[in-house]
Amino acid sequence: MPRGRGQASGATSTTRAETIRQRLADDILRGVYPPGARLDESGLAKRFNLSRTPVREALRQLTSAGLVEVRPRRGVIVSLPTDSALAEMFEVMGELEASCVRLAAQRMSPAERVRLELVHRRSFEAVRNDDRDSYRTLNFEFHDTIYRGAHNEFLSRTTVGIRQRIAPFRRAQFAIPDRLAKSHAEHDAIVGAVLRGDAETASELMRTHVNIVRAASWNYVHGLVPTAPGLRPEADVDAPAARAAAWPTQV
Ligand SMILES: [Zn+2]
Repeated sequence: MPRGRGQASGATSTTRAETIRQRLADDILRGVYPPGARLDESGLAKRFNLSRTPVREALRQLTSAGLVEVRPRRGVIVSLPTDSALAEMFEVMGELEASCVRLAAQRMSPAERVRLELVHRRSFEAVRNDDRDSYRTLNFEFHDTIYRGAHNEFLSRTTVGIRQRIAPFRRAQFAIPDRLAKSHAEHDAIVGAVLRGDAETASELMRTHVNIVRAASWNYVHGLVPTAPGLRPEADVDAPAARAAAWPTQV
């Protein structure tokens, strides 16, 4: 019996699936489960001390994120997306976020601008305390505030959908030392442009921000950069420098 309220409500089950999804995504990106490893539903249910339903849902979400795939007779297998597939996903993410912030700079209400500043200020506290978990949450809120500030329901829903698909890769960047402070500085420039109502600058800064996240995540996944203590991927990849050069590194 899992701890907690002990109720099997839909919302609780969704939360459990989300927790498992995040744990598994982190494990895959750290190399605990290398590409080709088989993820066994009942084994995972045992590991997390849960029923198979949230585990199945988590695996379904990981499938749409491209982290695992279902193979006939072999079950669920870890499969990292190819570099070009990941690059394409981040490119779309960058364009969508750039559109969101361009519209947000023009359309955000005064209350929404205050909220953006507030989230940004709180994230500075997380940087000062080197509190990665809080920063991840506040980063999520920061981008979410901009999506909603665009006042285009279809655009924000599309953007959230793509973000869910690449969430594990966005999260991976925060395992890199100094990434918190750099991310905050990038946000700072974006907030400045939004508050000035400078839509084009805000848009360009956001595109660059997402591109940097892409490079940081790629480097992390390929073990090319030292990571924060205790967060180094277990399956280190001795990637030759040529592979690094194939990807525009901006961090
Ligand atoms: Zn960000």
